[in-house]
Amino acid sequence: MDLREMISARASELAWQGQAACRKEGVNAEWFFPSSGNSHAFTQAAKDVCATCPVRDNCLRQGWADGELGTWGGVSYEERQALIEHEITVDQFIELRDQREADEAEDDDA
Ligand code: SF4
Repeated sequence: MDLREMISARASELAWQGQAACRKEGVNAEWFFPSSGNSHAFTQAAKDVCATCPVRDNCLRQGWADGELGTWGGVSYEERQALIEHEITVDQFIELRDQREADEAEDDDA
């Protein structure tokens, strides 16, 4: 792969970021990377934004693979570390999360 192909591949890898819900006006970046005593409230605010995000899975996969700090794809750093310690893969997590959300939606309809 030459340099031009590498740049093009990287740009398409990151194209999903243009659809990120956290880029909308009114969203505080600190919610995703809390540094103060408000970390629980901030992390929950971040998760609420992530729950509406159309690129949640892309984001989660990147945060998971790169060991990023902060909340990515609706999952905090500490939660990702605990899942990884229990040898849960990102694909397994996404499948379980989607199943849980489908079950909850079904319960709400009942
Ligand atoms: S999942 Fe959350 S952190 Fe990731 S891009 Fe979407 S809103 Fe931002």
